[in-house]
Amino acid sequence: MPNLAQLLTSKSSDEYRKVFDLCREIGEELDGVDGVYVVGGIVRDLIIGREPGDIDLSVVGDAGAFAAELAARTGAPAPTESQFLTFKIDTGGSIPGITSIDIVTARSETYAELAVLPEVSPSTVEDDLNRRDFTVNSMAISLSASDWGNLVDPSKGFGDIMRKRIKVLHDSSFVDDPTRMFRAVRYSTRLGFSIDSRTEELISKSLPNIDQLSGTRIRNEFEPILNEATRVESLQMCEKLGILAAISPGLRVGTRALQVLEELAEEGRLPSDIQELLALATFGLNEDEAKQTVKRLAETSDWGESILGNAELAKTVTVLDQTDLRPSEVVEILSDIPLASIRAYIEAGPPLPRRGRLVDYVETLRFVKPEISGDDLLKIGIPQGPTIGQLLEIVRRSRLDGQVKSRQEELELVKSRLPGFLTK
Ligand code: ATP
Ligand code: MG
Repeated sequence: MPNLAQLLTSKSSDEYRKVFDLCREIGEELDGVDGVYVVGGIVRDLIIGREPGDIDLSVVGDAGAFAAELAARTGAPAPTESQFLTFKIDTGGSIPGITSIDIVTARSETYAELAVLPEVSPSTVEDDLNRRDFTVNSMAISLSASDWGNLVDPSKGFGDIMRKRIKVLHDSSFVDDPTRMFRAVRYSTRLGFSIDSRTEELISKSLPNIDQLSGTRIRNEFEPILNEATRVESLQMCEKLGILAAISPGLRVGTRALQVLEELAEEGRLPSDIQELLALATFGLNEDEAKQTVKRLAETSDWGESILGNAELAKTVTVLDQTDLRPSEVVEILSDIPLASIRAYIEAGPPLPRRGRLVDYVETLRFVKPEISGDDLLKIGIPQGPTIGQLLEIVRRSRLDGQVKSRQEELELVKSRLPGFLTK
């Protein structure tokens, strides 16, 4: 078993090292703790030499007591039991650069039913590693005094890091948990690793299992994909592997959408807003495809807005090519369309006159408001009620179309419309 004590001390920052040292001390002192390991993504990142994320620990024995002691010694608030046998320390800034420490009880998992959450029972660190997703994420480094730095690597993840490949631990991995298909894509593009050929075959065979995931679980996997720097490559890979079509037959990232996403990424202009990314990624879906996708993916979330917004805009956008259109008409056509969809069309739509109109709307027209307010109208004698709003809307339109240019002209316009009401 290789010893990676060197990595624990030389490759991690002072703060990580301090936590690792505390783990060793607490492990020695607490009777109910038979082993403490740093596990999962952080081990992978330490070996690769990437900046590691938050700390994941696996404790053989009483993880709850261990977590409480670690929180106390780092000055963090008491840990919470986040899931069964799993504890979370939110450091609340008590350890600079580390926001949370997750501590699991080393456990084995069995999937009584496919694609639902597994049954767990306390066990060894090897069992804990064998329940994980990919070989490169299934390593642990011991933080116990007796074997400090020893690598536990039952599925040869170290070799797969060297070969730069993402590989599942066993053939039913994606059947047990179809969300791992999304994770495979995310790690592959993030780390620049290829998906092992057998693993790719298994993805292909397991695509129908995506049907067992709720829309919420799929979104929970997609969100981290869209938040990664390699989001465009990931979308492309999801498309290529058939994952998008497996989510919904209507869902695809079309050629034009991909081209624009790539261009924007190259120019460093890719939006970080999720609605804007979704609008770009689903650009070109027709109304049926958009509806089908939203039904599958967006129940009780706002993801549907821009996906449907694209289709909505596509239906009316040709009108914007008419040369005699007034600015107020442009606003009327576009005011109910999500801004994200309008922005996506500006990037991905054809360079016809409509594009200028869309830019005008986004940059200027949507901000045009009357100078006068409801109070001004009350002051000149117009009674409280819906008329106030209607008049302000008339003024806004006239302002958009350049028919009134000052506060004075706005008031004159109102007076000319409702002379009967006026007291002043
Ligand atoms: P990141 O750097 O994005 O945090 P990570 O590898 O730390 O990546 P997490 O989602 O934080 O990933 O999960 C921590 C560890 O838990 C993973 O490294 C993996 O070993 C395990 N894990 C997470 N999700 C799954 C899953 N769906 N199936 C099996 N193991 C999982
Ligand atoms: Mg992590």
